[in-house]
Parts: sequence; structure tokens; C-alpha cells
Amino acid sequence: MAKQPRPKACCTECGTVSIYSEHIGQRCAARSRTGEGGRCEGRFKAATAWDDWIACAACRATGEHEGEACVQCAGDGWHYRLRPGAPTPVPARRPGLTRG
Ligand SMILES: [Zn+2]
Ligand SMILES: [Zn+2]
Repeated sequence: MAKQPRPKACCTECGTVSIYSEHIGQRCAARSRTGEGGRCEGRFKAATAWDDWIACAACRATGEHEGEACVQCAGDGWHYRLRPGAPTPVPARRPGLTRG
């Protein structure tokens, strides 16, 4: 099983990913994953940095697990690092630490 291509954009609303850089800045319009029946009104945000994406550990970025779409990544094979709820490889242990 081949790996899924690393995505290049991620919807800020529903988390749908796109492997096409042409989608950056465009309407997502994916069918809602939340079951509300409408279309997503989010837009694709550029996520082209190498470390924006974490290979799905459950399916090893293939998008499939035992012949079915991976439930961990919805078949995408990748998790967007900055998405709320995404697995965080490094836990924030020092909340008082400030940048710069
Ligand atoms: Zn969306
Ligand atoms: Zn997966």
C-alpha cells in the first residue's frame, strides 16, 4: 500500500485536507463532517511546511487500515499539526514560557 501524498492545505473549519496547492485560499465547500447537512464555509489554509503534517501512526500514512479507510485520519494519511485535537508530539510543559 502506497503512502498518501503529503497534503498542502487544510480547511480551518472542518479540517478537510487538500493535496493541491491550488486550493489554498479557496472555499472548502466540503460536506460537513459534523452532520449538520450543510457545506463547509471554511477556507483552505496553506500548510506547505514539512512539519505541518504528521504521518498517521495508525495507518502509516497509507490512509487505509486493514483494507478500510483509516478512522484516525479519515483516509487522509496525515494529521495537520496545528489542528485542535491533533496529536501533539511535544507536550507543552511550560505554559509560562514566552517567545522572543
Ligand atoms: Zn471545510
Ligand atoms: Zn490513518
